[in-house]
Amino acid sequence: MANKIDFNAWAHTAAEWSAHYLESVAERPVRAQTKPGDISAQIQPAPPMEAESMQAVFDDFKNIIPDGMTHWQHPRFFAYFPSNAAPAAIIAEQLAAAMSAQCMLWQTSPAATELEISMVDWLRQAVGLPKAFSGVFQDTASSATLCAVLNMRERTLNWRGNEEGLSGHPPMRIYASKRTHSSIDKALWVAGLGQQNLVKIDTDERYALNIDELQQAIETDRANGFLPAGIIACVGGTSMGASDNIRAVCQLAQKENLFTHVDAAWAGSAMICPEYRDLWDGIDAADSIVLNPHKWLGAPMECSAHFVKDANSLKRTLSIQPEYLRTHDQSSIENFSEWSIQLGRRFRALKVWFLFRAYGLNGLQEMIRNHVRWSQTLAEQLRATPQFEIVTEPVLSLFTFRCTKGDPANIDNLNQQLVNKINDDGRIYLTQTDHDGKKVIRFMTGQFDMQQSDIDIAYETIVEIASQL
Ligand SMILES: *Cc1c(COP(=O)(O)O)cnc(C)c1O
Repeated sequence: MANKIDFNAWAHTAAEWSAHYLESVAERPVRAQTKPGDISAQIQPAPPMEAESMQAVFDDFKNIIPDGMTHWQHPRFFAYFPSNAAPAAIIAEQLAAAMSAQCMLWQTSPAATELEISMVDWLRQAVGLPKAFSGVFQDTASSATLCAVLNMRERTLNWRGNEEGLSGHPPMRIYASKRTHSSIDKALWVAGLGQQNLVKIDTDERYALNIDELQQAIETDRANGFLPAGIIACVGGTSMGASDNIRAVCQLAQKENLFTHVDAAWAGSAMICPEYRDLWDGIDAADSIVLNPHKWLGAPMECSAHFVKDANSLKRTLSIQPEYLRTHDQSSIENFSEWSIQLGRRFRALKVWFLFRAYGLNGLQEMIRNHVRWSQTLAEQLRATPQFEIVTEPVLSLFTFRCTKGDPANIDNLNQQLVNKINDDGRIYLTQTDHDGKKVIRFMTGQFDMQQSDIDIAYETIVEIASQL
């Protein structure tokens, strides 16, 4: 290649920039304050024909990109769910990028495969799952859920769907509560099952899927010639933390011979603290579980742990072996591309190894316990503040609230204005959601480095900006 760069010097420059960025990120507005098109206007419309100096490239990076970013590593990021990058895990990502291995087969990087087996198992132990579960690191929960849906589909069709397609078979049905994540809808689209075959069951007063209604829906579907294939249960839903009764769901699934997948993308990380495990009581009976270390635990994007009870069933769904992928000379331990959609895959386990070792389970538990406690403190402060109400109680570190000031008919509008003004202000970042027809404000703590003082700033900011409306 032309233009050989001084890798050593630039790697140091990048490391210095990264360290400074993380030290000073709290001084930036949390949400990007740019308008649509601000950034693209600064990017050349076509690729350069001639090589440019790294200095020019790096200067443009510094001048254009950071101001156009929303800062997920900001300690006052209270929106969505976190996307934490613990510093030790960032270092692991740098090392993985330097090797840039394609870890599709054991033989294409034995260390990556064997470390992945170990790290999935460390995580299994950390969240208290029994030995019966093995697993894989997928890119995202969306992918893990798609793999689980494909597994349900193939199991129901006795592994004929991949070969024959779906047209000769009765429609399959999958059941989930009305409060589950859109990635489940999308998984049914992509798996060829169709949105209308995702049967959405009402929830009860605790926001859990109504088991009687689920039982009824399965019976009605069987009577009408549909093929029930599986149930997707949720622990810690995205909007306000809705969680299903996993024990009851799994019992019903076993009785009906259905496959259960549990989406614990966010809340699953908190299961490293035994005192929160009531939230997924009965989980041992699930067939498939997804939780995202790239959310709350501190592994940089992308790292989604997909645990399964019967790995062979997943592999029978997804394994394909043309000659060029066969490994004849070695007996492989595991080829993780047979557990997922993508063939090529990154070395994801390295960051999990660094994460667990550099912070210890104790350190990670302490972080999560602090987040839960601080979030609950803020909920109590807001509850005690006139013209504020808590709409949904904290589930771990997530709750929703509203400002009730002024004309009751204008309340949705007022709360949207409040969210917009808070995010324009830049000291904190949070988002709105719809809860049973009401516009409410979500508050979630989870950033790796946040402190109790950040909660004080959140309270001041919310109350101050609300008083100006
Ligand atoms: C975040 C989230 C997802 C989607 O996760 P990705 O890894 O971004 O695909 C799915 N389900 C729940 C409950 C989530 O919180």
